[in-house]
Amino acid sequence: MKYENRFCAFCRHPRKVYLKMHLSLTNYLLCFLSSIVFSYAAWHELDPRFLLIFLFFIAIAELFVIVRWRMSVKCKICGFDPVMYKNSPKQASKVVQEFIEHREGKSIFSKNPKEHLPSIILDPVKEPEVRPKTENLPPE
Ligand SMILES: [Zn+2]
Repeated sequence: MKYENRFCAFCRHPRKVYLKMHLSLTNYLLCFLSSIVFSYAAWHELDPRFLLIFLFFIAIAELFVIVRWRMSVKCKICGFDPVMYKNSPKQASKVVQEFIEHREGKSIFSKNPKEHLPSIILDPVKEPEVRPKTENLPPE
């Protein structure tokens, strides 16, 4: 399984987090084959420079996997980053505070949560009357 359903540690919003943090053996093999194909396409033979291309492909793929994992770890609702919190809790707190202030008015974390709730106006005419049931009472 590539991802897992988890909850944000700060706002408890459910989200999907990629579990893959680094390249797998299959990814290394694909990078190797891609570099061989690139070598044949560029120089029409298996040039030793394909090893440099192989390392370049590995670096690009590893960077892509790490960036994808880091983006999935960070909460999109509150901006909480657990990796940053593990390294520096004060920095993570500052980032969350800035994120919430930036999204003020659009976020669920506004200063007055009642302003996002619809107002309910009760009409006293249409309100049902509360009467005691007289139908099933025995006759006097
Ligand atoms: Zn969150």
